[in-house]
Amino acid sequence: MENSIRRLLGIFCGIFLAASIQAQQTVPAVKNVILMIGDGMGLTQVSAAMLESPQPLALERAAFTGFAKTYSADSKITDSAAGGTALATGHKTNNGYIGMDPEKRPLKTILERAEEKGLATGLVATYEITNATPASFIAHNESRKNEEEIALDFLKTGIDLFIGGGKRKFDRRNDGKDLLKELQAKGYRTVYTLDDVKSIDRGKVAALLADGHLPRIRAGRGDMLPEATRQALTILKNNNPEGFFVMIEGSQIDGGGHANEGETIVAELLDFDTAIREAFDFADRNPSTLVVVTADHETGGFSLPASRQDKTVPGYKFGTSGHTAVMVPVYAYGTGAEQFTGIMENTDIPKKIAALLRLE
Ligand SMILES: [Zn+2]
Repeated sequence: MENSIRRLLGIFCGIFLAASIQAQQTVPAVKNVILMIGDGMGLTQVSAAMLESPQPLALERAAFTGFAKTYSADSKITDSAAGGTALATGHKTNNGYIGMDPEKRPLKTILERAEEKGLATGLVATYEITNATPASFIAHNESRKNEEEIALDFLKTGIDLFIGGGKRKFDRRNDGKDLLKELQAKGYRTVYTLDDVKSIDRGKVAALLADGHLPRIRAGRGDMLPEATRQALTILKNNNPEGFFVMIEGSQIDGGGHANEGETIVAELLDFDTAIREAFDFADRNPSTLVVVTADHETGGFSLPASRQDKTVPGYKFGTSGHTAVMVPVYAYGTGAEQFTGIMENTDIPKKIAALLRLE
């Protein structure tokens, strides 16, 4: 009697094991992950850019799309810190927290986990690199405002490259430390112009291209974001043929929303879309690359009703100067893209990426 129960148990365990192995094998292995976050990029922001663009957006090449719920642990309306932390760690946290749970315990980020697995890692943004979104992937702090402390966290990791603004948080600090010297001592090339970034094709790179934020696209930023994206992908690929994880942020779509400037939103989104084109083209040339494009939240309560002057074109209308609670779009391209469909939590995105990178 006991024997037959044991045998039966054995058969059941065997079936479960086989099923779980099969489930694992249906998820393809991915080598390179490019996570692109349009800060404040809601569906209306994308729609407005589509209407202004003479060609289809690069985004429209994404065959797999979904929606992400953005609420944070303490608010139905997230900020970029809790939104970034959700996308970086797979955990909801309180607004303002960077890489920490609501009890202020540090959470391991997907960038840190990729690094532990030996992959190359990087961050690219057009705001200061210590700003909430990129910070959420590398730092652990109870306040997004502690940007000098957040800069120190960059030195605690082995991140291969970061490109953005915010040089002053590294070399003009209240504590008098010169983090640029410390980065150099750790083997980083520290550079301050886009031309210098373009001259480097491998190695550790800290590129701080402005003291504060890079200018808005309409104030002369030029093609910094697509160029930085292209060069980052080259450097990361050369640094580690086994693979990489990089987060690239279209930081300033959010600013257009806060300022209630539809033209700024469209210009920033079209610029972000050229960076997305670089990423999708890289995925075409490099098998086992996944690109996921999403947002941390929508900004501005942006809508496109018929304009009063000409009813055949939309006017730009805003419901707030802050963030809103609407779901944000998710676009996926390349290997594993089919995992990113339907309605998901923002926290599901890094979990899916971790599974595809075999980080667990
Ligand atoms: Zn914002």
